[in-house]
Amino acid sequence: MERLPHDPRPWPARRDEALHDPVLQATLRRVTHRLNTARIQAYQNYPAGAEARERAKHRKREAVREWEPLLAQAEQQITAHGGQVFRAATPGDVGAYIKKVAQEHGVQRIIKSKSMATEEVQLNAQLEATGFAVRETDLGEYIIQLAHEKPSHILAPAAHKNRQQIQALFRETVADAHDVVSDDIPGLTQFARQKLRQDFLSADMGITGGNFLVAETGTVVVITNEGNADMVTTLPRILISLVGLEKIVQDWDALIDIIQQPALSGVGQRLSSYTTMISGPRGPESWEGPDEWHVVLLDNGRQAIHDGPYQDVLACIRCGACLNVCPVFQQVGGHGYGSVYSGPIGTVISPLIGGMQTFGELPRYLCTVCYACQEACPMDIPLPEQIIGLRSQAVAEDREPAAVRTQYRLWGQAWSTVHGYRRSVQAARIAQRLALRHVGLAAGWLKTRKMPPVAARTFLEGWAHEQRRRRRA
Ligand code: SF4
Repeated sequence: MERLPHDPRPWPARRDEALHDPVLQATLRRVTHRLNTARIQAYQNYPAGAEARERAKHRKREAVREWEPLLAQAEQQITAHGGQVFRAATPGDVGAYIKKVAQEHGVQRIIKSKSMATEEVQLNAQLEATGFAVRETDLGEYIIQLAHEKPSHILAPAAHKNRQQIQALFRETVADAHDVVSDDIPGLTQFARQKLRQDFLSADMGITGGNFLVAETGTVVVITNEGNADMVTTLPRILISLVGLEKIVQDWDALIDIIQQPALSGVGQRLSSYTTMISGPRGPESWEGPDEWHVVLLDNGRQAIHDGPYQDVLACIRCGACLNVCPVFQQVGGHGYGSVYSGPIGTVISPLIGGMQTFGELPRYLCTVCYACQEACPMDIPLPEQIIGLRSQAVAEDREPAAVRTQYRLWGQAWSTVHGYRRSVQAARIAQRLALRHVGLAAGWLKTRKMPPVAARTFLEGWAHEQRRRRRA
């Protein structure tokens, strides 16, 4: 099984599909603009926010740097509180472990709250292939599950769909939805809520991700704005939490510093609407909660990232702010990246987890190096520098097509001398006169870009002309 699922279509096909989809273009513009504005206003209205962000960054980076003793402490605490821990090296290990637990307990129906880690390891596909019925309970994830699609945004998985499309999807895929469901947002939400309630009540196993893992007490913290994680963690008799190694934080003080940041930077709220904390299975005194709790700690390449030059990227809290400001993401959306992780963060972690062979085109083509992502990132992750690093690696590994390499080599040679630079300006002027913008490579490039005209005479040419005129005079 691959380390990270990928869309096998080449980048130009994914790009063109996104650029020619008017619904996608409209919804993307609306969603990214709304989330960006909310983030900016949230910080403006919260003067202490900038300082809190700085504290959060330091605590999170420190936790990532020293994660091994913290992870060992978390494992010991989880076990001491009656939970069971499994370290999974690969997506296959995750699937095999969860299937074994489910089979041992006669599980048939599984409910899930939103989790990018489960998308990364294709958990639904692994479980469904063995015959388990899996139901996503986050509204956006529910929609894309019905549509058999991948998330198009870390926070808003169905950001590429409008309400008319969602109404049509419900009518096509959900029994008794025909003529019942309206296309207004409260009506759609109410319909999904009623349907999901039946799944909550009949499930034997719940699966969550984890936004944070507190080493001090072994507590998994899940934040949502819909409250579905509360039901996923309390109603079924077996609970699984799939948590990436990088989710570790030191203690409750550190958690308090960090926990605001996903909401502030992601959706412009001071705190997410629901914070669910799991510290163990149901005890003899409790009247709710699972009989068994399993924490699956996911590596899947994270240890290698930790030991290499891109360690800072592990401080990511998946707030999505970098996606919303990225000019490439704003044009092509998440599916354009061909990975479940999109935007600038996806451009870095997809090749690191899934390999340069599969995802090397992301750092090569899907970044303008505008630095907007680093400015928006609450963890101040140097995404642009990391993308440039990965781009250099792609070039060093000779992954650029020969034609592109030749073009850049000739361009480099031409502009490395004054004479070559001047000649290239003259050539560009001739090409412009001959209207070469309508043929070859330039035609595609200039379809969506404006090229400023080459001056009829550059300053240096004008200067030389003037000197000649004076000499003659
Ligand atoms: S890289 Fe930064 S901005 Fe992007 S999702 Fe992660 S924490 Fe948020």
